[in-house]
Amino acid sequence: MRFEKNSVGAGTGLVNVSGVVFGDTKLALIAGPCTVESREQMLETACAVKEAGACMLRGGAFKPRSSPYSFQGLSEKGLELLAEARQRTGLPVVTEALETAHLAAVAQVADMVQIGSRNMHNSVLLHAAGACGKPVLLKRGMCATIQEFLLAAEYILEAGCTRLVLCERGIRTFETATRFTMDLSAIPLIKQRAWMPVIADPSHGTGSAALVPAMARAAVACGADGIMLEVHCHPEKALCDGDQSLTPERLFQMVAELRAVAEAVGRTV
Ligand code: PEP
Ligand code: MN
Repeated sequence: MRFEKNSVGAGTGLVNVSGVVFGDTKLALIAGPCTVESREQMLETACAVKEAGACMLRGGAFKPRSSPYSFQGLSEKGLELLAEARQRTGLPVVTEALETAHLAAVAQVADMVQIGSRNMHNSVLLHAAGACGKPVLLKRGMCATIQEFLLAAEYILEAGCTRLVLCERGIRTFETATRFTMDLSAIPLIKQRAWMPVIADPSHGTGSAALVPAMARAAVACGADGIMLEVHCHPEKALCDGDQSLTPERLFQMVAELRAVAEAVGRTV
């Protein structure tokens, strides 16, 4: 398998996305809104997360929503706003491609193409993303085993992608007190078997902003190469996932708290 550390042509473990290196001593901090909502919201948030210490910007233009009546994202307009935020801040952008038909437009704007949890089993999309020429961020399916996650990664690698990063974002269990259950053991386990960097998304993993900083610290302690976080300047007004969104002020504080944990495991923030 191409994902395996000792396979022929295995990656070095370092993935460079427009100058942000995943898998190096320095942790990659990706932050931004769940969803691109408006020009003002996107630019305000982008500048705020940069100031707080993020090295990459996130934001969904095409949104996978559980209900067809929920806000589905600004689509192409959202991509334009992400491009503007990228230009304004200089931060590379990661955003999701929901289907193969979106890939070309997403790849034109994004520094890294995200494949979301709900699409982890979509082998046609995985293959197309792997062939699009851009680095890929693959999120774990919420009901996927680690083996299924690695096989989904294999589809992307088999299509020719050499810059792949994996993201643990929580799995479905019997527990309902949190939105998902963060499977932190997946991080050291995958890093033992596979060469790709692994990051953690404690925003979706917990569903609660109050739990995000602690789980971010835990993820760094167990070897995560980076953290992806949802941030909103006015979480109570967010069109999507406000409950799990940090304010920029909380993000700033969280980065300071992460520093001690990072240093303890030989990393920097
Ligand atoms: C996201 O990160 O924007 C997202 C929708 O997350 P997930 O695919 O993990 O649910
Ligand atoms: Mn979200």
